[in-house]
Amino acid sequence: MTTTESARDAPELSPPDYDVVVVGAGLGGIYAVNRFVKDGLTVFGVEAGGDVGGVWYHNRYPGARVDVEAYFYSYFDEELYREWQWQERYPTQPEILRYLNFAADRLDVRRHFHFDTWMTGAKWHPESNSYTVTTDTGLTVTTRFLVMTSGQLSKPRKPNFAGIDDFEGEWYQTSQWPEHDIDFSGKRVGVVGTGSSGVQTITAIAPLAGELVVFQRTANYTIPAVNGPIDSQRYGQIAEGVDATWGEMLAHPGGALTPLPTRAAFDYSDVERAQVLEERWAYGGHAMNAVFTDQGTNMASNDIVSEFVRSKIRQLVDDPATAETLSPVDYPIGSRRLCVCSGYYETFNRENVSLVDIKNDPIVRITPSGVQTESGHVDLDVLIFAIGFDAFTGALDNANVANERGSHPSDNWKRGPRTYLGLMTTEFPNLFIVTGPGSPSVLINFFAGNVQHIDFVADLIGYMNEHAYTRVEPDVRAQDAWTQHVADVSSRLLRLNVENYMVHVNRDDNTRVFMPFAGGLPAYIARCDEIVANGYEGFVFDETFAAALTGASLGAQADSVVVGS
Ligand code: NAP
Repeated sequence: MTTTESARDAPELSPPDYDVVVVGAGLGGIYAVNRFVKDGLTVFGVEAGGDVGGVWYHNRYPGARVDVEAYFYSYFDEELYREWQWQERYPTQPEILRYLNFAADRLDVRRHFHFDTWMTGAKWHPESNSYTVTTDTGLTVTTRFLVMTSGQLSKPRKPNFAGIDDFEGEWYQTSQWPEHDIDFSGKRVGVVGTGSSGVQTITAIAPLAGELVVFQRTANYTIPAVNGPIDSQRYGQIAEGVDATWGEMLAHPGGALTPLPTRAAFDYSDVERAQVLEERWAYGGHAMNAVFTDQGTNMASNDIVSEFVRSKIRQLVDDPATAETLSPVDYPIGSRRLCVCSGYYETFNRENVSLVDIKNDPIVRITPSGVQTESGHVDLDVLIFAIGFDAFTGALDNANVANERGSHPSDNWKRGPRTYLGLMTTEFPNLFIVTGPGSPSVLINFFAGNVQHIDFVADLIGYMNEHAYTRVEPDVRAQDAWTQHVADVSSRLLRLNVENYMVHVNRDDNTRVFMPFAGGLPAYIARCDEIVANGYEGFVFDETFAAALTGASLGAQADSVVVGS
């Protein structure tokens, strides 16, 4: 069938209201809107929060700060980089939120977003190759492309503990922290959860509370950040040549210029090994994940790093029993995301802080006056849940994106996510999942991941416009091959065998899928480049309806937004 014949047979169609709907005004959404507008596309942004910021808007709990160095946790736009001055090596949430507001203003993206607006669904219409997007504020728009910059760690897990509704004190979640100040003085505060959010909030609240009780299920390897003021000379040097540093970041497996390991553990002498461990500890943070080249795959090598960190915990915590409870012993370091802290272990030397090991003494229920564990009751005025997110699929499920048959992306992912490059999934044309499962995602600096993905998507849309294509979706064979590649790359990793939010476990046969692509950013980019060089190999374009849209200039300003339908 020729294009002319298909046009004659096709129904009369009006063009979609927008070229792109961008969901989420975090660091990805801000960049996406700017890039798409620059490309001449019409953009409609939706954000549930009251302003820009994404996770940095919602996670405003005390102590919240990033664990990527600020030199790299930035947009590598010459003007933006030069005009901003970070205060700290690891900035706090308020500073990051100010930065994202500054970037949103400078990039002039705010006017494209509808804030306090929850996307209630999107439905694909094959006859017009467009989605209809609905919101809780009554807006309904149609769009050619749907770009999810809603993040992989943005749907909070609900604290569904028995009795939670009976609690007569105040309770909060770190991931949905209120905007108003909370007075902890003289209060008995409990924190459930000791991941990155828990570690930070515990450290910050301990000096403010009357009493602080930490409920720990799994001890985490928590590494001091070695935070301090930003080195303005170093920052200034990067500002003089942002492109060069950006290039180096894209050539780094983690998308940020942290030290990389150079040798396997047993290629060092005992003395050298001890020295390199101390060097990494002194550098701080995620550098502890990169002491030896084989620590992620060789248990003996990993044991050396794990035991080194446990020895530091024993040095930092005065009470030996508390130190032991805080020491992770049953999984290798790096197999769950490292926590990065500023004085976490020392917090347990405070008179007003105590630790409850809920692995051995589980929470039975929340009572009107506190927490009942198997062995006793803890009286509390305030309860804080730092229990994490429904990672990878949560935000996407929340957005309720449906294809023409009414199914949702994760309906096809019962045995683990299946994507092409982590960006698209079959049967969902024109839907882009930024930093999705199958991309490096949570394993790398989110600035690097988001910008790389959005540039790829924008270039792909540009390619489609050049060729008058209106529909793209991955070929199932390409998706299968990429999904297999993602699995192969992680097959030797120790972390595949440890349960955490990055591993999908099929309970019937205990098969596991490591959801992010663990091959590093350069390998990922190389594959993306190869795909582009081969004419977007693995993507299927459908031009059937292109001709039907003649008269509708692709990229023209939208003039019809249906309100309230
Ligand atoms: P998380 O790492 O998933 O930690 C959740 C914590 O809550 C764990 O200690 C978990 O225990 C505990 N928990 C969950 N359900 C529980 C239950 N029913 N009863 C008792 N304990 C329960 O979540 P997160 O701390 O929010 O961090 C998630 C990710 O967000 C991080 O890995 C990081 O990528 C990102 N993040 C980054 C920063 C930063 O940049 N500094 C800060 C915050 C978050 P188990 O381990 O036993 O499941």
